[in-house]
Amino acid sequence: MGGLACALALAKKGFTSIDVFETASNLGFVGAGIQLAPNMARILDRLGVWADIEREAVDLKDTSIRNGDQDNELGHVDLLYIRETYGYPHMVGHRSSLAGSLYEGCKREKSIKFHFSTAASEVESWSPKPTIKVHPREGSPYSVQADIILASDGLKSGVRDQMLKLLKIDAQVIDTNQAAYRIMLKREDMQHDPELLELIDSDRVTRWIGEKRHIIAYPVSSKQIYNLSTVQPDKNFAEAPSATYTTKGSKPEMLKVFSDFCPKIQRMLDLVPDGEVCEWKLRVHSPLPTWVHGSVALVGDACHPTLPHLAQGAAQAIEDAAVLAVVLDKCPDTKPESINKALKVYQELRKERAETLVELAAASGRALHLGDGAAKAERDKQFAALKEKKGAVPDKWADADVQKKIYGHDCAMVAEEQFDELFANTKAQL
Ligand SMILES: Cc1cc2nc3c(=O)[nH]c(=O)nc-3n(C[C@H](O)[C@H](O)[C@H](O)COP(=O)(O)OP(=O)(O)OC[C@H]3O[C@@H](n4cnc5c(N)ncnc54)[C@H](O)[C@@H]3O)c2cc1C
Repeated sequence: MGGLACALALAKKGFTSIDVFETASNLGFVGAGIQLAPNMARILDRLGVWADIEREAVDLKDTSIRNGDQDNELGHVDLLYIRETYGYPHMVGHRSSLAGSLYEGCKREKSIKFHFSTAASEVESWSPKPTIKVHPREGSPYSVQADIILASDGLKSGVRDQMLKLLKIDAQVIDTNQAAYRIMLKREDMQHDPELLELIDSDRVTRWIGEKRHIIAYPVSSKQIYNLSTVQPDKNFAEAPSATYTTKGSKPEMLKVFSDFCPKIQRMLDLVPDGEVCEWKLRVHSPLPTWVHGSVALVGDACHPTLPHLAQGAAQAIEDAAVLAVVLDKCPDTKPESINKALKVYQELRKERAETLVELAAASGRALHLGDGAAKAERDKQFAALKEKKGAVPDKWADADVQKKIYGHDCAMVAEEQFDELFANTKAQL
């Protein structure tokens, strides 16, 4: 997401030579849904790719937070006010629609060249002309020299690891001890069950919560698919640390994890075909002291991976791209010192915000996953107060104050306004 958005945002600013290197042979669409928050939609609209995504996305009217075991509603939040307040709706869609529209947008730009099946590896120079070795799957490795390298190589970022090693910074990937099943159910499989049909026909995100677990679900792809994403204690990956982040899960194991959830959920989980249970390991990274070295910058999950509980990971990678395009466009010249300063302005504009949201996502997960006790009783009082439209929502993405902070922030506009002052006050470090 970060790489595609960077390429497109830079092309729209008139950059003429943008090369995208991707290990995979194609975009290899993950079968999963994604929340499309207004702060993401605003950027995608300016990049000219939102209309295609919006066409098949589902416009949310509300969200319901429920106890997993009894299916009783703990909290209900109206989301219709969002479009009017922030200029864009809060929608949910298919990942392939988001990535595919960004990719189509990139393909319309002559300045962007894609190199699929090509893995980047060693950073051979960070400045003045950053250089990276790339390995085409077929063919010999070669070095690519650029003016700027943006590493949006995800949670397992090799560029980040090299940067940290070079700067002698001890920061690690952190195991969250949480894993997620990602499930997509077809309308035709749900339509004979009135309760399930009601879910796929709704314009609602439903979250069912229990101790150390939850399921979040919503319709995508013009309501032809019902997307479920779970979170549960990580047992399977714990036995095979760090090698893989996704695995084929076992259906009986998945059913066991949610065996005390209500019959409606059992029926949905039972619709997942055997052999199609996909489990993801959820990992984050300790905060980094820097995202920039020389003329190289980290983007997205490479520098601020997050738990999914706030639904902002891709949105924040796309915000990174929007801000990078502004600061690099405003950079007064192409001297390495100026590029380094502009990249540091990007970091200044982005780091605190992204890291705050990472923290908030973790805190939201802790509140949602509470087991019996005083803290849970207090949380449930907060849910009860919502019925009188009072107080904060413990499920943070649905809280109006949190939404104001996240959706009300126009990162590109702030970058435009603050660039000159921040650039003047930044020292280059080469
Ligand atoms: C269960 C779950 C639910 C989520 N829900 C949401 C949501 O609702 N809303 C939201 O905004 N976010 C959500 N996210 C977060 C979101 O998926 C990520 O934050 C986002 O994909 C990060 O984008 P990225 O571009 O930084 O990294 P990635 O999407 O991981 O992309 C990295 C890319 O780099 C490539 N790559 C890696 N190494 C190399 C290399 N050496 N050379 C070349 N290419 C390389 C990879 O193949 C990949 O294509 C969710 C995440 C999870 C796990």
